[in-house]
Formats: sequence, C-alpha cells, structure tokens
Amino acid sequence: MEHKETNYYEQAIPPVRDRRLTVGDSFTGTSCELLNCAKSGCMLKKNRRFWQANTCQMTLSLMMATTVENAVIVVHAPIGCGSNMHSLGASSSVGKARRGKKPETTVWLSTNLQESDVITGGEDKLRRTIIYADREFRPEIIFVVATCTPAIIGDDIEEIVRSTAEGTCATVTAIHCPGFKSRVVASAYDSFYHSVLRRIPLEPVPYEDYTPVEQSDPDYLINIHRFNAQKRLTVNIFNATSIGPDDEGELKRLLNAIGVNVRFFAEYCSMKELRMMTFAGLNVSMCNLHDDYILTYLKEKYDIPYIIADMPIGFTATRNWILAIADHYDLSDKAKSLIDQEEQELRKALEPLLPQIRGKRLLICGGVIRSGTEAIALKELGVNMIGIRAYHYDTNADEVFTGLAEEFPDLPVAVSNQPFEMINQLRRLKPDVVISHNGTHGWLAKAGFTSVQLFDALKPCFAYTGFYRIVRRLIFAMKNSSYETRLAQYVKQPYKADWYAREPYSYIKD
Ligand code: SF4
Repeated sequence: MEHKETNYYEQAIPPVRDRRLTVGDSFTGTSCELLNCAKSGCMLKKNRRFWQANTCQMTLSLMMATTVENAVIVVHAPIGCGSNMHSLGASSSVGKARRGKKPETTVWLSTNLQESDVITGGEDKLRRTIIYADREFRPEIIFVVATCTPAIIGDDIEEIVRSTAEGTCATVTAIHCPGFKSRVVASAYDSFYHSVLRRIPLEPVPYEDYTPVEQSDPDYLINIHRFNAQKRLTVNIFNATSIGPDDEGELKRLLNAIGVNVRFFAEYCSMKELRMMTFAGLNVSMCNLHDDYILTYLKEKYDIPYIIADMPIGFTATRNWILAIADHYDLSDKAKSLIDQEEQELRKALEPLLPQIRGKRLLICGGVIRSGTEAIALKELGVNMIGIRAYHYDTNADEVFTGLAEEFPDLPVAVSNQPFEMINQLRRLKPDVVISHNGTHGWLAKAGFTSVQLFDALKPCFAYTGFYRIVRRLIFAMKNSSYETRLAQYVKQPYKADWYAREPYSYIKD
C-alpha cells in the first residue's frame, strides 16, 4: 500500500476521521455511484433532514481499551457515559479467556461529573481518580477516557495526565473520544491507537524482552543473522474486537504454514507484549478501516512496512490477503500451493451446501469493509445480493468498493446506520435473509426478518474455516425462521404507516 506521511502523532489530541479522511454517512445509489461520489468529494456534502439515532465513538474506544491486560479505565464523564462498561467488561473477559489469558474483569472508574463540575471544572476530580486507581488497583496502564463534558468545559486532560503520571507507578495515557466530535465512529480506533503511541512504550527492553547478540559472541555473525531473520519474518497482525480468537488462529495457521511468525496487536495485549510491537518485519491489517493510523505511525517512526489488503473473507479476499504477505517475503510459490489446496478442500466441503444458498435474496448491513467483502464473497457462491447498507464510508474503503464496483456496478448500496431507513427498505425488498451488524437482531426479528450476525467474536468468519461457517450459519438461519415470523405478528412497529409509503432514503439530502 502506498505510504501516506502524516504529522498527527505529535499532537496531543488526534484528528477525527471527519477531518483526516473523506467520510460520509448519508448516501444511496449503486456501488459505482458510491465510488464516484466518494472520489469526487460529493460524499462530504451529503446529509439527512432527520436522524433517528447515532453512535458515540467512545464506545468503540472503550471496546478496545477494555481488552488491554492489567489496565484500569478512568472515564472522565458524567456517570452515564460509562454505562456500557458493564457489557464491555464481560465480553473482554471472555476474549481474554479464549486467548489463554486470565479472564480478569475490567476495572473502571468514573469521575462522575456533576453540574457543579461543569462550572468549576473537573480537573481536580480527574487527578484524584487517577491517583486512587493507581494506589488501589496497581495497574500497569491507566486509560483516561476524555468524553463530551470535559471537552466542552475545556479540562486540560493532557496536562493532568502528564503531571499526575509523574507520581504514579502506572503508565497513564488519555483516549480523546468525545462523542460529539465525530459522526464517524471509526474515529475511535485512531483515538485508541493515539493513546497507545503517545505514552505507552513500544520498544522491547534488552535482557528483559529479548537477549541481544553481543559482538564478543564467538558466533556473532551466525547469531546476528538468526536474530535479524527472526525479526524480519515476524508479522504483527492488528486485530479488532469483532475479530475473534478463532479467526486469529486460522490466519496464524496459514501464515505459519508458509514460514512466517505471527503476533497479534494491540487488543488483548499486556504492557510487556505491547513493547514487542516494534520487533517485527511487517505490519498487517485485517480490516482496511481499522489500523491505518497506527500502521502509518510505525512506518514513519520505525520504518516497518505495512500491508492493508482487505479482510480475508471468502476465496478471493483470502487469497489476496495471504499473497500480499507472501509476496513481501518472496514466498508466493509456497503460498499459492497452500491456497490451492485449502481452496480445493473448502470447495469440496461447500459443494453439498451451495444449492441451499444459491439464488437466495440477501441484504448485508454493518461495517463498510466487512459488508463489502462478504458481499463479494457470497456473490461468488451464487447468492443473490440485493443490497448493502454500510454504516459509514471513508477513504480506507475505496479499495474494497473499487472491487465491488468492477464486479457488480449496479448493486444497490446505501450508507446509513439509521434503523428507520433499514426497516422501510427491508419491507420493500423482502430478503430471504439479512446479514446484519450485531445489536440489530432484536428489532429485525420484531419486524419479521430472519437475520444472521455480521460477525461473532466467538465463532470463525475468516479464511477457509470461517467462510465455511458463514455459509452454515446462513443456511441454519433460513431453515429456522418461524421465531421471527411469529414474533412479528405480535409486535407493533414504532413507525407510522405513511413512513412505509415514502422512499426509505428520502431524508437524505445533498
Ligand atoms: S456522546 Fe458524549 S455524553 Fe454521550 S455517551 Fe458519548 S461521550 Fe458521553
């Protein structure tokens, strides 16, 4: 991937994606029109006359921070901003356990800002809470989460973090993610990574993390060669909360088979593991949208090359993803024969299942990369893709949507995270099954639509094992749709009849 130079890393507060990239959250048209609109910049002008709801970027930053081992999270906010910590803490414990780590509950504290703090400022409360977290829980890292209220009243969080950290055992760093600052929740990934690269050491410590080769070593030349080869052949793969341990295991299995070592960052890492981030020959993303911020930083500061090559879902994307890494190491021949063999086995396993999905009408909704990649993969199997609804669009999705526009130029695509638009569209399209972002299945069921989760961190989705499971899940859902059908008979929808008479995306304006 072409390297983009940036100078964001010296800034105390990272830029939101709305400023850094071409982004959009309101669009309807075909895949070809979407790409043209994104590339010409017209995406930036799109908006809605009415919004039912939107998401706070802080949730996604917290999702990442809760996975870090031996960390305490200080949410500098009114108490309500931390409400989703209860569920995030539980899911991160499961993720830790599945990766063979201690399933410790995430400790989080709130500064519980009151109306009076809005007048007098919350800096003192924050300082006291950081010190309490350090003394009481003895974490390695304290993440201070900066939300809307302190951003509005102007608390100098960076200065509080800097000065308080001088007296704490823990490394303290701030995640700047006030919800009002970005309409693109993916900004949260950059905010989290910014907090990591600003204050958490990313270089291994000699004799603690590795044994350096001394020049006095009689076998110096052999050992230094071995040491450098080990570093060069180590690939860091950047994970995401939606990517589970089974997916990590599947990719590790494939890359190990061609002779490459693999480590996963930055979720589910401890402070010691994070230090090893720069002991690698290559950084690789598993999602075009997730990691460009930190990969660019590691390229600029440590000269580690990186690859952002789609999400390895389905035959083509998985092949491309593995080959991009293999090409870097001049291991393409080995990789091609592995891929051919894996594909052959998967095609054989899928053969009896394909008649059950061929021609089925499918709509995919959720994150833009996963939706686009999965649409291409399933269309290759003969599924009748009737549309994509991406939650947002940004420049990082250009590559996937270029592929989509080439293969399926007339595929209907909407950029929307609005449930009222989705229900209207689904009533018109009447899909056999919907693949939809987690959290939406309750109200899809109430509206009578059979759905499958777009991702499930406890089940595989990636590469060969994952794609097989995706097909199996689709078939299972279509065979078991009576729950949704019956539920819809008894649940009253919140929308008026005249809303269904209007075009689903009629509120989108230029
Ligand atoms: S939008 Fe602001 S106030 Fe609301 S949860 Fe997010 S950070 Fe808190």
